[in-house]
Amino acid sequence: MRPSLDNRVLDTFEQLTKQGFYWGVQHKEREINEMLEEYYPRFHANPPTPKVQRILDFDLDNPLTQICAAHSYMTYDLHIDNANYGLIFVNRAGPPDFTEEDYRFLTTFGGTLRQIVGNVILTNRLKEMATTDPLTGVNNRRQFETFMEIELTRASRYKHSVGLAMVDIDHFKQINDTYGHQVGDYVLRELCQVLTQGLRATEIISRYGGEEFTVIIPQADYAVALVVGEKIRSLIEEHKFEYNGIELPITVSVGIALYPQMAVSRNSLVEMADRALYDAKNSGRNRVCVAAEKED
Ligand code: GH3
Ligand code: MG
Ligand code: MG
Repeated sequence: MRPSLDNRVLDTFEQLTKQGFYWGVQHKEREINEMLEEYYPRFHANPPTPKVQRILDFDLDNPLTQICAAHSYMTYDLHIDNANYGLIFVNRAGPPDFTEEDYRFLTTFGGTLRQIVGNVILTNRLKEMATTDPLTGVNNRRQFETFMEIELTRASRYKHSVGLAMVDIDHFKQINDTYGHQVGDYVLRELCQVLTQGLRATEIISRYGGEEFTVIIPQADYAVALVVGEKIRSLIEEHKFEYNGIELPITVSVGIALYPQMAVSRNSLVEMADRALYDAKNSGRNRVCVAAEKED
């Protein structure tokens, strides 16, 4: 995940301008990587170090001086945990060369920026840990509840409905018992990947617990929710689950409920979807059942 250069960082860059420097930031990781790959082996320390690098003479062989029409330049890598988050590039169009004082300034400045970017990365990582399930990478139960709150609020404000699909792997215990927990874990991860790739980005997949998953289907009426439920079921049935050459026949049962047609609160929506799931299990598994509409 790339941190955005927030206001604090831009403020820090103001300092450079006050020092009379021209400055530029590259913060597109791919471009940086390409640039570093091409130029660093020849002109800079490789791998990049958190240290100011100086090129003091205009060098016709150095594409960086040519691209920027620079007489001399200094760079500072934002190379953190083996990823390039940016490159500070300071250049002068003509003489004089950068002084020792300039060098010290950029060293301090780069260090500060490294710290800020490092903090942004750490914050992002902590946020991700708090909201995703470590085994499968989909939203965790807490994040599911947050998304439900958001979607139900939106639905009642804009007067549309929301679908909730409860998905449970059929006879999953047998997989664990026959092949071991590791294979079971593989199935859970693979299933999430299949759903993530097969469903729309707006459909929110979460691990509700154990081998049970939820899919929130925003702005869905009865017909749409049923189509998505059927899509979930067939994506899994048709996917080839294979572990160390062993093919595993995996299917899921799906229970669907709609807000507000079948339930008017988050808890009762989950309960209705659960009940529909129970029907799907009892009527033979590998199928989709929809909860009954509530009576007014
Ligand atoms: P049904 O078709 O009725 O859903 O049968 P089932 O065997 O899938 O259901 P049951 O509730 O009996 O078993 C669920 C199993 O899921 C039991 C538990 O060991 C397994 N399980 C839950 N979480 C994990 C996990 O993180 N990893 C693995 N490998 N297994 C898990
Ligand atoms: Mg199950
Ligand atoms: Mg279960």
